[in-house]
Amino acid sequence: MEMVKIADHKRFQANGHDFVFMTQTGGIFELDGETQAVFNHELTKGKFTQQAFYAVLKGTKDNKDSLWNNLAGNRVLAPQKFPETRPMLPTPEFPVKTLVLHVTAACNLMCHYCYHNPEALNKGPQLSMELKVAKKAVDFLFEHSGDLEDLVLVFFGGEPLLNLNLISKTITYANETARKEGKKIDYAMTTNGTLLTDKTIGFLNENRIGTTVSLDGLEAVHDRFRRFPDGSPSYGVILPKLKKFLGKENPKPVVARVTLAKDVKDISKTLFHLLDLGFSEVGFAPVTTMETDFQLDSHQMMQLLDQFQHLSEIFIQLALKDEFLGFTNLVDLLVNLHEGDVKQYPCGAGIGMFSVDPRGGLFLCQRLTNDDSARMGDIFDGLDPKKLGQFRQDARLDKKSACKGCWAASICAGGCYHEAKIREGNLLSPNLHYCQWIKAWIETGLNVYGQLMNETPQFLDKLSMLRGHAPLFNQLI
Ligand code: SF4
Ligand code: SF4
Repeated sequence: MEMVKIADHKRFQANGHDFVFMTQTGGIFELDGETQAVFNHELTKGKFTQQAFYAVLKGTKDNKDSLWNNLAGNRVLAPQKFPETRPMLPTPEFPVKTLVLHVTAACNLMCHYCYHNPEALNKGPQLSMELKVAKKAVDFLFEHSGDLEDLVLVFFGGEPLLNLNLISKTITYANETARKEGKKIDYAMTTNGTLLTDKTIGFLNENRIGTTVSLDGLEAVHDRFRRFPDGSPSYGVILPKLKKFLGKENPKPVVARVTLAKDVKDISKTLFHLLDLGFSEVGFAPVTTMETDFQLDSHQMMQLLDQFQHLSEIFIQLALKDEFLGFTNLVDLLVNLHEGDVKQYPCGAGIGMFSVDPRGGLFLCQRLTNDDSARMGDIFDGLDPKKLGQFRQDARLDKKSACKGCWAASICAGGCYHEAKIREGNLLSPNLHYCQWIKAWIETGLNVYGQLMNETPQFLDKLSMLRGHAPLFNQLI
């Protein structure tokens, strides 16, 4: 008789209810009644037969059949060896959806913690992308987009608004190409906000460019590291411009991205300050560096977790009133959980997304531009299929032996390649320095998810739709 087992899972509590997160399928179920009895029973800690399973259940044969089928159908019951169900691995022909253009290497700020090494950036040749490179990059995107209908072009730098003329011409060209190809193209940009003027604001809105502004919070916090090359602070320059921008009807959400550096204090204050300014969402990321002048130490990372947890509680309180708190880190995590994403790769870098440097070099992502190990060809001669194929083989989660058996692997998948390059010395290494943190954060997300699933499940659907996905609800058993 076939032996089965309960598939790998993590149990968690939310609001006094018992839940389970199935780590290989991404399913989240509330345990009650008979399912709780099953998960609590000694028998199910190992392998068992259907007959032995029925023996521990109460109720009629029909009830037992129904529970067995339900658990098997949801892949809570698994054969001893879990079948390989990972999605097909991307081939070199895998479609490209997003292309990030480094329209200039120059920046008018010199943020002390910048991963581009601001001193080198501002002293070296300030390379700007030329139109022929930008057009070729647009062609590359369309040619490699396969059957995808919705594509994304991101303008990045340096400070992209320093090359507005090129961006404008590139958008005209990309719109024409989209029309010819019968596809749709969206635009996004990350800017430091110092060059927002009536003209640039009008341009961003007219072209429906989804804009991310890098801003670190209240004036004193922001001005610690985000300064002009002459050392002068930038917050006072940005604020009136931002108010103008956020005071308009923006057709696309404008979001803030906060870099968290050493000794950062009150994250809640930062979040509410930025939301009060009119940003629709605020995302936080600890600075990626080995420099102890900026890096958050382990104590500070734990303080950060406390603050994220505090914000998560506020998020729930508001969600129960059907109100939204634009705390991007939690929204992204909840959407991942809601959609049951099972990641084989930590992000889309080198899969459906590439970045292009001003000369046309193709890199895994915007943060890895200029890193030779992340260079995958160029837009003139195309992707290097051998190097890309090797990356896609080596970057897979199942190649990261240290992550084997980790309950959080389907969400973390080893973490950001850029972070790994800086902190672990190799972009293919799992980010073992933050395992404890990321697991605690995902556990917080599971707890929030469980509470919302019980009390306002439709709110989870709304979050998915906010990210442009069809509603999809993790079913209750
Ligand atoms: S890096 Fe750590 S938390 Fe992430 S999947 Fe690997 S072992 Fe798990
Ligand atoms: S490698 Fe890191 S920075 Fe690059 S896209 Fe992935 S998560 Fe983002």
